[in-house]
This record gives sequence, C-alpha cells and structure tokens, in this order.
Amino acid sequence: MTPAVSFQKVSRHFGSVRAVDAVDLEIAPSEFFAMLGPSGSGKTTCLRLIAGFEQPTAGHIEIFGESADGVPPYRRNVNTVFQDYALFPHLNVLDNVAYGLMVKGAGKAERLAAAEEALKLVQLPGYGGRRPGQLSGGQRQRVALARALVNRPKVLLLDEPLGALDLKLRENMQEELKTLQKALGITFVFVTHDQGEALSMADRVAVFNEGRIVQVGTPNDIYQHPRSRFVADFVGSSNVVPPDFVQRYCGQRRWGSLRPEAIRIARETSGDGVTARVVSTAYHGSSTRVAVEADGLRLNVTVPAGAPLPGEGETVVLTFNRDQLHLMEDGA
Ligand code: ATP
Repeated sequence: MTPAVSFQKVSRHFGSVRAVDAVDLEIAPSEFFAMLGPSGSGKTTCLRLIAGFEQPTAGHIEIFGESADGVPPYRRNVNTVFQDYALFPHLNVLDNVAYGLMVKGAGKAERLAAAEEALKLVQLPGYGGRRPGQLSGGQRQRVALARALVNRPKVLLLDEPLGALDLKLRENMQEELKTLQKALGITFVFVTHDQGEALSMADRVAVFNEGRIVQVGTPNDIYQHPRSRFVADFVGSSNVVPPDFVQRYCGQRRWGSLRPEAIRIARETSGDGVTARVVSTAYHGSSTRVAVEADGLRLNVTVPAGAPLPGEGETVVLTFNRDQLHLMEDGA
C-alpha cells in the first residue's frame, strides 16, 4: 500500500542546529500517528515539512506516492490545526471555516454549505454567526478543526491542538478527535509532548529525541518494550535497571526496564525477592507511588488504592514476574 506520508533520510538543519536529522518514516493511510518527544526534539519541524512550510535540507518526502519536492503548501492535500488556532478575529465562525474554500475559488453557496457541514462534524452547529472572541477556548479549538476539515484533506496535521485546554476538556476532545478520525478515515499526524495523550489516541507513536526518531511502534510496543533508557523514561516512568541487576534475575547482562506497576511489595522479609527499604510514599488518588531503595538502586513502585501501604523507613520485599523485566538495546 502506498504510504500517506513517506520520509526518506529527511533532514532540516538551521545553521548548526539539526532540527530534523536523517529521518526515515512511513505513515499509513487512515492512520492516527503521534509524534511524541520533548521540547525541541524536531516534531513541529517534521510537521512543517509535511505541510510544506519548510523544505528539507536533504532527503525526500512523498505524500500519497507523489514527490513533495518544491510543491507549495496550498497544492498539498494537507491541512494543519495549530495550537493557537490562528482564527481570523474579524470574520465570523462560518466565514473562518469557509475561508480555505474561498481561497480555492469555491462559490459562496457551496462553501457556506460545506462550512455548516464541518461545524456539525465538530458539534458546533448554529455557531456560524459568532465571532471567535465570543467562543470558549474549547469552542475555538473546534472551529479551527472544522476549518482544517472543510475541504477534506487527505492528511490532517495537528500541532499540540489540545495544549491550551484544561484537563477535563482535553480528555473529552481526545475522545472526540479519535472518533472523528475513525469516522472520516483521514490520516492524522498529531504532535504532542504528552505521553498519555499519544498512548491513548494514536495507532502508532514515533518517539523523537534530538531531531531523530528513536523508536516507532504501537502504544503497547512503546510502553511495554522501550528500546532505550530515553524511551523508557519519557514514556511513562519506568525503573531503568543496570546490567548487574538484570543478570541476577534473567541471566543476561543487559540494561532493563521495569514498570512501577509490575512490582509488588510484600511486608514480610522472608521468601525470595529483592529486599528494599521504603524511602517515601506519594498519594496519587487511584494509586500511591512508593519509592524504595534496593541494591543501591532507587525504584518506584505503584501500589493500587486499597492495598496495604508500607511505612517510610520500613524494610520490605519486592517481587515481580521475570517476563515483566524488559531487556533494552541500550542504557543510554
Ligand atoms: P516543541 O515541543 O517545543 O514545539 P519540537 O519538538 O516541535 O519542540 P521543533 O520546533 O521542531 O521542536 O524544533 C527543533 C529544533 O530546531 C529546536 O532546537 C529549535 O530551536 C530549532 N528550530 C526550529 N525552527 C527553527 C528556525 N526557523 N530557525 C532556527 N532554529 C529552528
């Protein structure tokens, strides 16, 4: 199948800054693809390369099998939803949404009908007459989405679109966006530095670091099988354990990662397991995070609400299933 977006050794350097560095990437049609990484890791630059706002310094980009070399943004079948929405304050909602169609020369009746339709898609029917200033942040976000969907792009690029919303609204919009994406079948490329958002929404996630993709896979792959310390730390909060520790339990001298929820705490100090001392406990509502020290290592353990909690300073025994100790390719 022809990929929706394909990067072949794509770089975008700004002077000595390697914003994007020799990235290979294939995004499938109708895929919900998340680009996840810390600030400055090159996610937005990748998005801008797909949109055509940036040109690669080296390498080659194809969109649905067609070379994007030299193709300006408005000739790509791609739209972008920006974090700050970028709505025109002096135009009403309907005209904001219809704007892209006007630029493409669509007649008035056609573009207003399409804009009404797009507003329905984002659950804002009847809001066409308002100005952006008369809407809440969440509503403005929906208008920006409607505007990007109105001419049914084949690829929709979303740059931290939920970043400005409060947590509750953000969670609602995450669900809605996912439902909308599945219903429309449009390829979504979604940039975020929020790992929870990437894991819960995307079909696949690319983890970025310093202009490179360090791992790409399904949310489950990325979470359960991080390839490196960077991915294990960035995606969730894993315990990265050194080769000595891993060798003792698995016989292999490799770096490992052990998720806090994979460890159980027993208070009796008999039986086999890792003897540890409780350093601190932090209540998180549905669970408590217990920090322990074992074999000179600091480990985090998640104890579900309702389970007995050890006290600070207490000696405990940690157990885990060996298959939960995931071996990594490197400890960097
Ligand atoms: P954030 O999550 O903060 O948006 P990001 O992962 O999207 O970060 P980019 O915006 O792609 O990161 O930036 C990657 C690197 O390229 C950064 O070091 C940034 O300062 C640099 N950069 C981006 N655009 C330019 C530019 N026009 N000129 C110079 N440097 C740039």
